[in-house]
Amino acid sequence: MTETKQFLGPDKDHFLSEENPFESMMSRFDIAAKLLKLDAGLYKVLRNPQMQIIVSLPIHMDSGETEVFTGYRVLYNTSRGPGKGGIRFDLGVTLDEVRALAAWMTWKCAVVNIPFGGSKGGVICDPLKLSMGELERLTRRYTSSIIEILGPDSDVPAPDVNTNERMMAWIMDTYSMHKRHTVTAVVTGKPLEMGGSAGRREATGRGCMFVTREALKQLGLPLKGAKVVVQGFGNVGSIAAELLQENGATVVGVSDVSGGLYNAAGLDVKDVIAFREAHRYVTGYPKADAVAGEDFLTLPCDVLVPAALENVITARNVPKIQAKVIIEGANGPTAAGADEILDKKGVFVVPDILANAGGVTVSYFEWVQDRDGWFWTEELVNQRLEEIMVKSFNNVLEVSKRYNVNMRIGAYTLAIERVAAVHRMRGMYA
Ligand code: NAD
Repeated sequence: MTETKQFLGPDKDHFLSEENPFESMMSRFDIAAKLLKLDAGLYKVLRNPQMQIIVSLPIHMDSGETEVFTGYRVLYNTSRGPGKGGIRFDLGVTLDEVRALAAWMTWKCAVVNIPFGGSKGGVICDPLKLSMGELERLTRRYTSSIIEILGPDSDVPAPDVNTNERMMAWIMDTYSMHKRHTVTAVVTGKPLEMGGSAGRREATGRGCMFVTREALKQLGLPLKGAKVVVQGFGNVGSIAAELLQENGATVVGVSDVSGGLYNAAGLDVKDVIAFREAHRYVTGYPKADAVAGEDFLTLPCDVLVPAALENVITARNVPKIQAKVIIEGANGPTAAGADEILDKKGVFVVPDILANAGGVTVSYFEWVQDRDGWFWTEELVNQRLEEIMVKSFNNVLEVSKRYNVNMRIGAYTLAIERVAAVHRMRGMYA
């Protein structure tokens, strides 16, 4: 079976709709680029992805039939270091989404000042309908199809929606088999036994907790007793909820794809996690009221943590949002059209590229530990994560005050300034 590989080169299509995730990201990029008075040449360079790859992935299904899946990998910008970005297995994956996520990774790594560029990958599939054997063959074929661009010095994947530690182990093994020696640093989010980092699983949720604490400090509000609502009860949402509660917040609402829960007196997050582990979803948890869809985000609270999907906070529902602080655990949960209304309402938004950067920060720690062959304790990982998250929060705050803009534009401005500075120093090879 042959595979087709298409290198698309720079994106020329700037006529994208407002709902489009790439355009939504770029509308913020444009504001920051203007503030920075970015020169026209550099603007063009940073607005275009460096490389976009489409691969066809033929797989023997358990039935004996052959199925061909489509996979993408986008290296958005690697001026500051190797590409870094997860791999998503989902029916909704599009090249446009992967490209937006790869750009986000570029800005995210720059916001927390770790030496990586940005990349992202995805495979169009419904993982729930695939057997373990089919998933393994698909993961290995995807890895071998993009192997020229993978590597600890060039592009380092990680888990994302519907991909996990086990799949990262397959990627590491496939890459290592091709290289004829074990290369642990080619991928992060691996099991601990084979070069994973302590604290990686909790890192994104823990980072959300640190920036929530810092954001509330800015508003003169204590974390203790702050009412928190968390949308999404997966890796990011459940851990953010648990750690926020451990640090004194009252988690009044949580939700997952099955529906939402609300208890004004506070939920016992550990108990909800145990319920979800036993019943798969949070719906049916007895010590809370059920809350449906749209009503969930507008529940009374001080802090709202959208940690599930893109574009859930929109111009339509934002007037009803009651939170004083929004911590974007998910990537792109706020549509560009909602930013201005949030500003007018005085909501303090900690944007995705800062709020959920804890995951990539500990991925960086994992890569460093793999390359050193010397592993850190969980306490050291968490302490270094806290240092980076708090410093990055304050750096973004300082830039947002300097330019008199909100935290989102502050974060983009800081990131673009850092990426642009490296481009200027490196010059152009042409
Ligand atoms: P996950 O698959 O572990 O969890 C996703 C959660 O969202 C699940 O509880 C699911 O039921 C819920 N959900 C799905 N549709 C929903 C809906 N319509 N309403 C309410 N809940 C819904 O994924 P995750 O790793 O927690 O990632 C969540 C988001 O955070 C994604 O946007 C991801 O890109 C982003 N993110 C994750 C990490 C990480 O380290 N895991 C890092 C940075 C950003």
